[in-house]
Amino acid sequence: MNAMLRCRDIGKLLYDYVDGTLEPVLKQQLEQHLADCPGCLAFINTYKQTINLSKELRPKGMPPELRQRLRSFIKSKSLQPPGFWKRLWLRLAGSS
Ligand SMILES: [Zn+2]
Repeated sequence: MNAMLRCRDIGKLLYDYVDGTLEPVLKQQLEQHLADCPGCLAFINTYKQTINLSKELRPKGMPPELRQRLRSFIKSKSLQPPGFWKRLWLRLAGSS
């Protein structure tokens, strides 16, 4: 029986997945989970969208509405590992 990923595991893998540094085996497991879990699929799409926007925009130029949306999104996902969100937040907001 395969070890299935659970929703709470997704947050930990997501960062590497979007970065393209996730191990192929884990990537496959993650994609299997996404195929079967609309919630996580929506989650990862929002995440990707946010990362793409943050690449296009300078962090300081992030629109307030996006920042607000991100903030409430993070709140709604308060079950995710804090370290993951901290990394995400630092990445978006810049480390300065
Ligand atoms: Zn899930």
